[in-house]
Amino acid sequence: MKLPEIDTDAMLSFLVQLLNTPSPTGFTDQAIKLCEEMLKTVPGLTMKRTNKGALVATLLGQSDDEGWRALTAHVDTLGAMVKEIKANGRLKMSKLGGFAWNSVEGEGVNVFTQDGQTIRGSILINKASSHVYGQDVTKSERKDATMEIRLDVRTESATDTRALGVGVGDFVAFDPRVEVTNGFVRSRHLDDKACVANMIFAVKAITDAGLKPKTTTILHISNYEEVGHGAAAGIPPQVTELISVDMAAVGQGQTSDEFHATLCVKDSGGPYHFDLNRRMQHLAEQFDIPYKTDIYPYYGSDGEAFWRAGGDVAVSLIGPGVDASHNYERTHIEALDATTKWCMAYLLN
Ligand SMILES: [Zn+2]
Repeated sequence: MKLPEIDTDAMLSFLVQLLNTPSPTGFTDQAIKLCEEMLKTVPGLTMKRTNKGALVATLLGQSDDEGWRALTAHVDTLGAMVKEIKANGRLKMSKLGGFAWNSVEGEGVNVFTQDGQTIRGSILINKASSHVYGQDVTKSERKDATMEIRLDVRTESATDTRALGVGVGDFVAFDPRVEVTNGFVRSRHLDDKACVANMIFAVKAITDAGLKPKTTTILHISNYEEVGHGAAAGIPPQVTELISVDMAAVGQGQTSDEFHATLCVKDSGGPYHFDLNRRMQHLAEQFDIPYKTDIYPYYGSDGEAFWRAGGDVAVSLIGPGVDASHNYERTHIEALDATTKWCMAYLLN
């Protein structure tokens, strides 16, 4: 059996739109809405939002004799919250998710105020000017206390900034700077929006071809993964297998690259499920899906979040290779294609 065709152009344009929709953890409503809109076009699929704000879609299978399956990918991203308004009117931040401050230094940001405004600004070290601070610009440690947001509005004091409507708890989204060149997709937050697009377009390709998944399948679009508890809720009790679709870590010593999908057999949370892993590898071989097998040294997934929450399911983790993860990331359409095919092969077999 051959897998149905993927509409790669549509997948890529959805991915770009999703990347350009700010969704730091805790502020994911617009991104979830975008996924809802796209999934509305899939016949036979029902959707609901969990109380926590995740999106859970159910796709009826060819039969219900076997246990249900689930795929999860997360729409929430790294970001920050306003922690403090400084005396000079600039903002201190508190991180959302795990990243190094230098990876966002100089980046443009949107600050979302509680009254619904969006204010532009950028992230800088508090001693930023070479002409004023000399060697201190290089030597200053990049940490919560030394990084700040300079707002692109007139403010010279905390009072000025407060008067603009900015306050503690406002969400901060980093500009993704999406660029597609020669098949490469360069952007922040490919983790994990790439996989959300892969998962949705796998389901679209199958249903467009008039096919149904082998058994009833849940698509879980998680909104709290970057802080560790995304898929802890929202996976129904009928589910016996969960595929966490999330980026593969590319770097020195890793087998993963930007042109393959990867099966992760172990990460910081320990090994994934042996039998399901073997089945995923066999499926990749059977359908000529370019894949690698790898271990990620500093990594956790929503599959593990569900395990920790008491979920009694087999879990595997697959995803496209993403270079410079939790930094200015990049992948290639070949890895996205491979991941999408892998989801399809799993859904149908
Ligand atoms: Zn992720």
